[in-house]
Amino acid sequence: MTETLQIDIHQIEKSRIDTVDFDNLIFGRSFADHMLMVDYEDGAWKTPQILPFGPISYSPAMMSLHYGQAIFEGMKAYKSPTGEILVFRPEENWKRLNKSAVRMCMPEVPEDIFMEGLSELLRLDSAWIPAKEGSSMYIRPFMFSTDEYVGVSPSKTYKFMIFTCPVGAYYTKPIRVRVETKYIRAAHGGVGFSKNAGNYGGSLYPTKLAVDAGYDQIIWTDASEHQYVEEAGTMNLMFVIDGKLVTAPTGDTILDGVTRKSVIQVAKDFGMEVEERQLSIKELTEGIASGKVQEAFGAGTAAVIAPIATVGYNGVDYDLPERPADAFSKRVYTEIDNIKTGKIEDTRGWVMK
Ligand code: PMP
Repeated sequence: MTETLQIDIHQIEKSRIDTVDFDNLIFGRSFADHMLMVDYEDGAWKTPQILPFGPISYSPAMMSLHYGQAIFEGMKAYKSPTGEILVFRPEENWKRLNKSAVRMCMPEVPEDIFMEGLSELLRLDSAWIPAKEGSSMYIRPFMFSTDEYVGVSPSKTYKFMIFTCPVGAYYTKPIRVRVETKYIRAAHGGVGFSKNAGNYGGSLYPTKLAVDAGYDQIIWTDASEHQYVEEAGTMNLMFVIDGKLVTAPTGDTILDGVTRKSVIQVAKDFGMEVEERQLSIKELTEGIASGKVQEAFGAGTAAVIAPIATVGYNGVDYDLPERPADAFSKRVYTEIDNIKTGKIEDTRGWVMK
């Protein structure tokens, strides 16, 4: 990036910040004052705009509503103890957005539009980034097709946008997850590795069934045999087995999570052995019963680490032991949280200021 990107900024006349109760934030329900919007037309990205957050109107024939060219990302910004704005590994989200774009036959977003657009948006709405322990600013970049056309083909026009939400702490108590043995999330050759809207639409019904049965989330299994652990709702799954960190390899059916990647690196830095390998449901349930599986947790941007209390499989609940104070999942949470919030030195170069 040699020269600064031009961004047309239309600032809000009066901030809505006084209408938000920062002590009682509900995840994803409050939106900061501004949004970034960039149009793709005639084979090129136009000048980015920053506008007051608000509705946009479209034709009922807008292609993304019908044929699902819609992708998104999720990441977080924090305020450091000295008031600096810190974003955790945003270039990983930019790269993943573009992997999703390629798979969904959409144009890639240039790095300067993503990074400088994000920086400018956060600068403008910096008062919205909560400083309270556990809270942060959730960032939602997304892209969708905008042609007005009824016909299955790639759209010629798109919009890339970013908006932000101040959020409080996410999951609080350890969760109950159920191994899914009928429905699938992704198959080889499919779109599981991409963060496209349809993957989430398809997950809602099976998840509802699990919730109705008293669980919080699903453990997705492989599409052909339902024998191997893949991932959870919006988290990668990780386990401590005999003192080693075990997690499924990402491949083309699992989202390549930024939190997963970071947990693996921190585990290695702690001197822990890491195994990226297939884990069968049999090994998991027997391992919980015998005590070999010491910890199970989800890893994702929203919760960072979501400890798992119970794994349900074929009507039987397998309960994990309560986590000791020095549990890996607690230590890795603290390490990552301290880096994200600027409480310790960022020796790995993960934080964008
Ligand atoms: N898997 C899925 C399906 C997800 O939606 C997410 C959330 N983006 C994750 C895993 C975790 O990814 P990350 O750590 O990058 O948030």
